[in-house]
Amino acid sequence: MTERPSWGALAERALAGEAITPDEARAVLAAPDEELLPLVAAVGRVRRAHFGTAVKLNFLLNVKSGLCPEDCHYCSQSSLSTADIARYPLRPVGEVTAAAGRAVDLKAARFCMVASGRGPTDREVDQVCQAVAAVRAAHPRLEVCACLGLLKGDQAERLRAAGVFAYNHNLNTSERFYPEICATHTYRDRVETVERARAAGLSPCCGALFGMGEELEDVIALGYALRALRVDSIPVNFLIPIPGTPLAGRAPLGPRTALKILCLFRLLNPAAELRIAGGREVQLRWLQPLGLEVANSIFVGDYLTTTGQPPPADFAMIRDLGLSILGHEGAAPDEAPTAWGEIGDAGRLTRRPNA
Ligand code: SF4
Repeated sequence: MTERPSWGALAERALAGEAITPDEARAVLAAPDEELLPLVAAVGRVRRAHFGTAVKLNFLLNVKSGLCPEDCHYCSQSSLSTADIARYPLRPVGEVTAAAGRAVDLKAARFCMVASGRGPTDREVDQVCQAVAAVRAAHPRLEVCACLGLLKGDQAERLRAAGVFAYNHNLNTSERFYPEICATHTYRDRVETVERARAAGLSPCCGALFGMGEELEDVIALGYALRALRVDSIPVNFLIPIPGTPLAGRAPLGPRTALKILCLFRLLNPAAELRIAGGREVQLRWLQPLGLEVANSIFVGDYLTTTGQPPPADFAMIRDLGLSILGHEGAAPDEAPTAWGEIGDAGRLTRRPNA
């Protein structure tokens, strides 16, 4: 049996920009329960070195929902899905700008416009560009990310010219496992769109989805693939097994496994924005706060076709961790801080020290 690596030494190497080895990556995913907190503490140093105590909030808008011809097994909007979801074409500009206003109200730094489908038509790109211009005019400090599927021709350049900052297109899993979750397009197709977006000057956002039945080697392979692609941000999704989708019955990974995956992705991609995305509530569960010691970003509000944790719970989680919301550092807390005092029989604080 090989000796377990020192988590602190792995963190030092990540801070120096060196990749950990595949054996070390396996050791991270195999960390025993009693090693979980030391692992998180070590990896947390990498997070704080690059992002301090800030948590970046992102807000999702499903600008076009359902009716997709693709067969991604995890997706409630696919051709295979019988899930009971809303189906609508691209939303009008006024609705998009109203949603951007909601993102700002929720302290989001990034507004992610996501459309269902294999890829946009040129007409849809025109419509998105109009909406982006309106959002940028109303909220110039809000980063806009588009996620419209596979791009072709000059679509990426047109989005960039309209003011889109980032383009999201997830690889989701390893090249080996990809055919198990989708037959209508390939892993390579997805890599090409990420590269096309980068070449157009868009910030590449490319992430993962775990809990679909992949093996640990697939998790590791994807971590290295994203490192090789040098993506700026990595949304890490955990499967929400939506009724009506082919993966509806899949059992959760378990929160400790989900947390170890986040640790691995931080070690392999130390300077990337690591965003805990869909499924954190059902897979990380009560370990969500520990996730933020490793990741530096979450979505606030709802996901594409499922609801997220209420925003006040996210704000409380961030505050209780002693972290701050990016762009709102030093803002007055939402509630007065509570000093520890005596707890009465009814569970109420009856006296504060020094009060
Ligand atoms: S291409 Fe996008 S919208 Fe269509 S099934 Fe796949 S993930 Fe869902």
